[in-house]
Amino acid sequence: MPENRANENHGELPVLQPSENDPKTALRKSGRGRIRACVLILVHVVIVLHITHYLLRGRSLSPVEPSEAMYTLELGYLNAGAIFFGLAIISTIIFGRFFCGWGCHIVALQDLSGYLLRRIGIRPKPLRSRMLALVPFAVAFYMFLWPTLLRLWRGERHPGFTNHLLTENFWQTFPGPFVSVLTLTICGGLVVYLLGNKGFCTYACPYGAFFSISDRLAIGRIRVTDACRQCGQCTANCTSNVFVHAEVRDFGMVVDPGCMKCMDCVSVCPNDALYFGLRQRTGSENLSSTLQNSSEPPRRRKSYDFSISEELFGLLVASVSVYALRGLYDVPPLLLAIALGVITAYLAVQFFRIFRKRDLRIQNIQLKRKSRITKIGRWAVFFLCAWFAFNVHSFFVQYHRNRGREHLNRITATWDELLEGQALREGFTPEDRANINAALKSFGYTDRIGIIDVLEVKLGLVFTNMMSNDLDAAEKYLRQAYSCDSSAVREMLLEFLVSQDRQEEAEEFL
Ligand code: SF4
Ligand code: SF4
Repeated sequence: MPENRANENHGELPVLQPSENDPKTALRKSGRGRIRACVLILVHVVIVLHITHYLLRGRSLSPVEPSEAMYTLELGYLNAGAIFFGLAIISTIIFGRFFCGWGCHIVALQDLSGYLLRRIGIRPKPLRSRMLALVPFAVAFYMFLWPTLLRLWRGERHPGFTNHLLTENFWQTFPGPFVSVLTLTICGGLVVYLLGNKGFCTYACPYGAFFSISDRLAIGRIRVTDACRQCGQCTANCTSNVFVHAEVRDFGMVVDPGCMKCMDCVSVCPNDALYFGLRQRTGSENLSSTLQNSSEPPRRRKSYDFSISEELFGLLVASVSVYALRGLYDVPPLLLAIALGVITAYLAVQFFRIFRKRDLRIQNIQLKRKSRITKIGRWAVFFLCAWFAFNVHSFFVQYHRNRGREHLNRITATWDELLEGQALREGFTPEDRANINAALKSFGYTDRIGIIDVLEVKLGLVFTNMMSNDLDAAEKYLRQAYSCDSSAVREMLLEFLVSQDRQEEAEEFL
């Protein structure tokens, strides 16, 4: 028997008992799903054509990715991604948040994951959280506004706009294949299983934050006529977790900015009560006004899965985890770190519930039953402890790496000045000396406790040891840096040997 989420989540909805034998009450299938799937496949075909063009010509349109707009605001690079993102936001203000549902490759992956999970009998329950829903807005602020505010605060001028519409370095801002596949698997797959359909859009996507704000201003909306009978088919079919029946009842239209205008609700409504439009149909008295004229006031109750203290705890865990994982050992990019941070927050809340609740289930996995932790629950506790310990360890690794970088950036000596000994001859100010010691300490600490060698840390130790006139230690770390990335450090190592009058070793090395 199909599950009716509308009934489960909104006690006030007069839902008929669903039956597969009764076409009026059985869960209906959207006719728009296939059309949207075709459009999303077409989007991927265009992406493949774009990459193919670049590979054949060695030069092509810069990546049509919203993230590229960061470089426009910060560095003045006028690129295809920024123009595309701007147009997408403007069109959202008119037609609503349609781009996510019809053009985003992560939504395509999430929908595919949701479909595959349903095929094996799992319908992921969507997480309803107040605080974690703030994460995309915080990340959007950090990505797009923070660099500009920082520049204004420092009194620096914008560098001015330069043309970056075409590029010869297409992959510059993308991670490698392994990290890309990992990012897509976690953002498009694991997030859906744990947080529900569109979990990434709701709790992680910084571009979604812009679309969500624009959608609130939009005039294009899913609207209702007075033919609605509150059967709940629309809500049960909405993969964006919108309470469609309640919204059209209370407002005469869908106002939830999570609505991606996929049109599934329009397609499944047995009474043809829904439509997409820029304004209410004339001559059609909508359900909202019907209710307002009646004695019964509109009701809308929002329910959440976590208590306020759990929400705050989750937000804290997400912040710590994103800080710990972003760029850890030069691997996770921002989006992957955010997805992992939100997942970690969700799991942390569930972890403490294991010890407090009588029964606990995460999707189809029963962790605790009648006050007894199940076998799989014990394994979950073990793996979660290991994951949280890894996050805490990574936090310290990252904290000391960032501190080391901050202190090193305050010293102006260049590589050439260090090689020629000029920096040492001129001497450092007491303030420089304090920064050198602090950088040396922080880089040394992160190098000792880190699990994987990191080029930036090794080079930081090379610089700080040269500034401290410890050339043996500097050479040791330079050779270790060479093992991390031979092409980046090769020239530095040669220059170092030559500056020490060790030409023979340099030639041998060459
Ligand atoms: S809009 Fe259609 S599907 Fe949704 S509750 Fe009303 S009648 Fe049912
Ligand atoms: S409310 Fe309707 S159009 Fe909006 S996401 Fe849900 S099913 Fe799609």
